[in-house]
Amino acid sequence: MESLLGKNIDELQDVAVAAGLPRYTGKQLAEWLYRKRAESFEEMTNISVKGRQTLANGFAAGRKKPVTEVRSEDGTRKFLFQVGTEYVETVLIPEEERNTLCISTQAGCRMRCAFCMTGTLGFRKHLTAAEMLNQILTVDGMIDGGLTNLVLMGEGEPMDNLDEVLRALNVLTAPWGYGWSPKRITVSSVGVMPGLARFLQESDCHVAISLHNPFHEERAAIMPAEKACPVADIVRMLKKYDFAHQRRLSFEYICWSGMNDTLRHANELVRLLRGLPCRVNLIRFHEGKENGQFTVNNTTLHFPSSEEKQMIWLRDYLTGHGITTTIRRSRGEDILAACGMLVNALKE
Ligand code: SF4
Repeated sequence: MESLLGKNIDELQDVAVAAGLPRYTGKQLAEWLYRKRAESFEEMTNISVKGRQTLANGFAAGRKKPVTEVRSEDGTRKFLFQVGTEYVETVLIPEEERNTLCISTQAGCRMRCAFCMTGTLGFRKHLTAAEMLNQILTVDGMIDGGLTNLVLMGEGEPMDNLDEVLRALNVLTAPWGYGWSPKRITVSSVGVMPGLARFLQESDCHVAISLHNPFHEERAAIMPAEKACPVADIVRMLKKYDFAHQRRLSFEYICWSGMNDTLRHANELVRLLRGLPCRVNLIRFHEGKENGQFTVNNTTLHFPSSEEKQMIWLRDYLTGHGITTTIRRSRGEDILAACGMLVNALKE
């Protein structure tokens, strides 16, 4: 049955009229769904009983709870949601004053980044806005204090499912929806253009680009998306937008020993990002049980984690050359919840 979650105010008003109800009932529906977090039509007591029954015959209003959950030693929680016949994982990262949720936008992913366990799943399914919002609403209702931040960095490439991503972001940030500030939301991408250009026009949310190597040939060898959308073109396009104020632009950079953490790479990063108001987040690589070995197209590649001291050197070098750089703390590695580790392992 079709879910009302994800519908915008105009669509909810159309739903109300089609059900023989006044158009203003659409506003009441939005209020119940997005503000009061109603789980069923029965709760919507300012809508007539007959009207609620008609709506319930055509639409679902509730949420789907996760199929299962696992907790890390460090407090990170990973949830498995069923989406149609597929599954996706969602990660909650509680910190002292923040509860950040990392949601999936697709089941699997077709970008085939060579170092990413999610990429090994291949593409399974685009998630609907309702399926994205369900991850957020459900977890938000399960935790003390509620969510403070949202990142679209789980399974999938958001720009590859942009219509539904924008629809979900619209519901999250609209005054008739959840009313969140777009500054609480970060959307990650490998840099798929022209989706990224459209996203920058139509959304005010923060942007995180998965960079991982500043050299075209080297990046293309581990990230096939680089062949169609070179990072130099992405940066050129980003320089046309205003990131000097509220909107934040960051570059995610997983560090591999000798592969992208050398002086040569550092100098090229400085050259590439010069003049762009941004920050670089260095990420420790999780070698996992495969010890950093990934087989792509019958070729086995080895991704050795950088030494901590090399990451500190890279952070300080970039910062010293005018690029604000941090080392991102790793969370949830023991439950395969860390960056690039989502493979729906909870399903087994
Ligand atoms: S790193 Fe992101 S874009 Fe690349 S395969 Fe993994 S999920 Fe997809």
